[in-house]
Amino acid sequence: MTAESGSRAQRIDRYVGQYAERAKGMVASEIRALFAVAARPEIVSLAGGTPYVAALPLDAVGSMVSELVSSQGTQALQYCTAQGDVGLRERICGIMALERIAAHPDDVIVTVGSQQALDLLARIFIDPGDVVLAEAPSYVGALGAFAAYQADVVHVPMDDDGLVPEALSEAITRVAASGKQMKFLYTVPNFHNPAGVTLSAPRRAEVLSICQRAGLLVVEDNPYGLLGFEGEPMRALRADDADGVVYLGTFSKTFAAGVRVGWAAAPPAIRDKLVLAAESAVLCHSSFAQLTVREYLATQPWREQIKDFRELYRERRDATLDALERLMPAGCRWTNPAGGFYIWLRMPDGIDAKAMLPRAISARVAYVPGTGFYADGSGSQFARLCYAFPPPDRIREGVRRLASVVEGEISLRSDFARLWAISTKSSYSPAASLPNARFHCAREHACETN
Ligand code: PMP
Repeated sequence: MTAESGSRAQRIDRYVGQYAERAKGMVASEIRALFAVAARPEIVSLAGGTPYVAALPLDAVGSMVSELVSSQGTQALQYCTAQGDVGLRERICGIMALERIAAHPDDVIVTVGSQQALDLLARIFIDPGDVVLAEAPSYVGALGAFAAYQADVVHVPMDDDGLVPEALSEAITRVAASGKQMKFLYTVPNFHNPAGVTLSAPRRAEVLSICQRAGLLVVEDNPYGLLGFEGEPMRALRADDADGVVYLGTFSKTFAAGVRVGWAAAPPAIRDKLVLAAESAVLCHSSFAQLTVREYLATQPWREQIKDFRELYRERRDATLDALERLMPAGCRWTNPAGGFYIWLRMPDGIDAKAMLPRAISARVAYVPGTGFYADGSGSQFARLCYAFPPPDRIREGVRRLASVVEGEISLRSDFARLWAISTKSSYSPAASLPNARFHCAREHACETN
């Protein structure tokens, strides 16, 4: 077989008819398709939610890891239990206490990032067609995990104070009337990915009481809770209902995404199922990664490090908001995050952020189109901007490029409207808006809804 015919053979999938039904829900996310181009150095990427790990004391972490292997290598390089290292679980309880959660190490299972916890939860709860309620928009990786188990995601609107309780009640009533099984509410209450908003304190109580009345489990996904720019961390939902809430945490944003250590704190019966599911998935998690985190928490000034991260991300958020304010054309709207990594940008009416993306990439700026964050592929008027990775001057340059792409799009639309009016002697109809085909993503498949 020649190299050329070999690579062609790889593209033609001879097993296409053999996959399980659930594999059909597994499609590449917008983010994955983007990473390849957005990583080019000439592009300012406001796309991936990439933490700025260069701010870590890398030499100190290196020495710590070296010391870990020489002094505790027989444990760090060995299998462990599927629930995870108990010393690490104790430390995790200390971290959750910062958000007023009173947990015992037995309540906790260590996972491969919180992404694995999402997968395990979907695995133990979702039969095909079961409903998961989730904010509109929702974290793309959660939507991917739910799609892999053929969940039917029902989105619930948010506003500047997070999930809207009345809309949640209505959604619960509607789904109950449809006769479908509703398995849980998935929510990111702090510094939402992608929307950047935070669930207000009064609404936390409302959301909990609505879910309690409906007997609905809450999955509280909280990677960014300790990265608030003002005041103390907010009280977690789980702090007020340990029986009704599964809490997901991670060290990806407060320490290092590359160690892939997260956790779930769950009611005992759910925790048992999660441990069994984890065992069948991975036997046990990496002892090395878990002990690295345990040692990091025991020997390094992790609280000061989180403060440093907060300052760094606050400066980048400010640079982004300032540049948006100065440069974006009229008609654009955006959220004002009080922490975390993300700003949710609404384009002027009629501008499609997904269709515009190839132009933005040509202009050397990248973002994630809103469509990736809706299970039904809506959200094309939105874009997610992540300010965590580029330094402030690159952010300002990225926003400048983005603003000129949006301006170009607006003027193209108005030219088109004028020509339309001349050629048809009628006024422009939004229904016949700019032909998207001109700008479609080269990798159409990868840009499909996730
Ligand atoms: N949930 C949310 C809301 C996230 O933003 C992320 C990371 N982008 C994750 C879960 C997964 O993070 P990890 O697996 O690295 O813990």
